[in-house]
Parts: sequence; C-alpha cells; structure tokens
Amino acid sequence: MTAMHSVQNIRDHLRALGANALHEQRVLRLWAQAKAQDSGRRPLHSFMPTAVREALPALSQTLAGLATLREQHPGQDGSARLLVGLQDGQTVESVLLPRDGLCVSSQVGCAVGCVFCMTGREGLIRQVGSAEIVAQVALARTLRPVKKVVFMGMGEPSHNLDAVMEAIDLLGTLGNIGHKNLVFSTVGDVRVFERLPQGRVKPALALSLHSTRADLRAQLLPRAPRFDPQDLAEAGEVYARATGYPVQYQWTLIEGVNDSDEEVEGIVRLLKGKYALMNMIPYNAVPDLPFARPTWEKAAAIARTLHQRGVLTKLRQSAGQDVDGGCGQLRARDVLQREQRVVIQPRFTPALAPRQLDQAARQGRAQ
Ligand code: SF4
Repeated sequence: MTAMHSVQNIRDHLRALGANALHEQRVLRLWAQAKAQDSGRRPLHSFMPTAVREALPALSQTLAGLATLREQHPGQDGSARLLVGLQDGQTVESVLLPRDGLCVSSQVGCAVGCVFCMTGREGLIRQVGSAEIVAQVALARTLRPVKKVVFMGMGEPSHNLDAVMEAIDLLGTLGNIGHKNLVFSTVGDVRVFERLPQGRVKPALALSLHSTRADLRAQLLPRAPRFDPQDLAEAGEVYARATGYPVQYQWTLIEGVNDSDEEVEGIVRLLKGKYALMNMIPYNAVPDLPFARPTWEKAAAIARTLHQRGVLTKLRQSAGQDVDGGCGQLRARDVLQREQRVVIQPRFTPALAPRQLDQAARQGRAQ
C-alpha cells in the first residue's frame, strides 16, 4: 500500500480500487469520526464495490497506524497531554482539552524558534501530513468526544499550509467539526490571509502576538515573518469581519519581558475597538529555558486593566500545565530517552535572560 500521509493519498487509493465519490466520503467520514468502517445499518456488500470492501480492513489498519498513542498524561484540569507516535517513529504532541477540545500538531519540530518554546529549540524535523493531522483527531475520538480542534500544538501551521488546509477542509465537512471550532493559530504570514478566506471551510483565527513592539517580537519569535504588529492586527480585523468570528490574540505572559505598562498601552492601542479577544496565558516555566512565570495576581491585574480599557481579555492557564509544562516537553523527553542523552544544552546563553533581553531590545543592540 502506498504511503498515506495526505488525505489525497487516501482518496487516490480508494479511487484506484473503484470507489466513487460517495464511497470515498463514507470511508473518510467514518475514519475522521473514529467509527468502524462496517458501522451503519446497511451491510457493506449491498453498496460498496467488492475490491474496496475487501481492502477496508487493511486500510483501517493503515489509517489507525498514522497516529498511535504512545503516552497519556492526564492533568488536574480535565485535559490530557498525549504523546503520539507517527508511522516513521517520529512523535508529536496532542492535548485533549477540557470541554471536548483537542490541540493538534502540524509539524514535527518548528522553524519559528520562539525563544520560550521547547518545540522551537529543535528546528523543523518534518511536516505532518494532512492525514496525520486528521489521524490525531481520530485517535483522540477513541478516547473522548472532540468538538473543537485548535492548531496550537507543535509547529507553525502557515509553514505547512497545504496540509493544514486539507485537514481543515475534511474536519469541517465529513469530520463534523463546526467551522468556527477549528482554530488556525499562527504567528502571522501573508499567505494565511490570502488562503484562509478562499477555503470552503473558514476556520477561526488565532494570532500569536506576544509583544506589540516589533523589535521585541522579532527577538521572541526569531524566524517568524516580519509582520509589524499593527499590520497584523489590521489583517486580522479584515478576516474577523469577513468570517463573523473574532480573532483570538495569544499572549504568553513572561515575567520582565512582555508584562510592562508599555505593552498594556500597546495592546490597547492595537486592539481597542477591534473584533478581537485577547488570551493571556502566563508562561509555564520550563527547567531548560531562562524565563519565568509572572504571579497570577500580576497577570490578573494586567487582564483587568485591559478589560477596563476596552480590550476583551481572558486570562487562561495553559492546558495540563501540571503535566510537564509547555508544548514540546513530552516529545523532548521522549527523544532524550531514546537517544540516551543526559542533558540538553541550553541554546540560549545566560546573556539572554528575560530582563536583559528586554533591556537589549530597548537599547536597540540585541540581535
Ligand atoms: S510557539 Fe509555536 S510557532 Fe513558536 S516555536 Fe513553538 S511551535 Fe513554533
């Protein structure tokens, strides 16, 4: 059987066996919804071509093998972090979120290199195929219902745009997920604003802002496209008005880095009056990274101020924060164990400690 990394590979395989569009849709629908291929009242032999019917057990096995459960770590908040094995032995993380949500990964590793993220440390290893994205949903649905899928796991979806859009199309149709319950989360890329409005399934948009200062944002997200925060918010506003759902801005709140009064003023300037929601998530400290979490009181005070100044703001904990901190840690530990290495050397020198990073940005001399 050919590799089945993309949804199109599966369609091609079924077509080659003699399936028509309806047969194909049925197979994809049952798979994406984690139902058995022989479920339903009508017996398969009454409508499915023999060659397709006979191939279904092997195909089901192949599809189940696209994403397999390697580890499950339940959190106290009702979430659970999953380490998911892909067919070639690579791993990604998915997170079962409270209230029937699922966070999926769109890449193994990530090229953006956000300085506060474990996933960003290893660079991009490979793209996750559209079928592997849907397979994460199918796998999660064997564990609990999934009614919302957020692309906030490992990887930058705009760097794997064709695959992510193909997965979104399937999930928003045969996969039975409401379009506004599919959340495309990105650091911002012009291609996103060109492609998303063209899809028949238009997902909600989450933009990772993290700073309103272009210089600091460029340091925190070193290989993100250079998108001025002002332009990003304007492009987001156009998409929000076109789709009818607000843009969700993501802000990982890091002590001494992006929790200043200046940033609060910047957020008000950027988002007041916009069709937007600010999600503030206090940073989850990770032993290998030189950043700290602000106190909950400080984070709550910032959220309250923003709210009072006209920016709809929610203060959130990252899901399963009691389980190995941030995204990428389960995989990092797994890779570490497999390689039997003892330590990961920090990529950041002590000179890049948060306050110094901030100071350097102010003085305009940081790289
Ligand atoms: S936070 Fe997201 S975009 Fe940034 S490095 Fe991590 S996975 Fe990539």
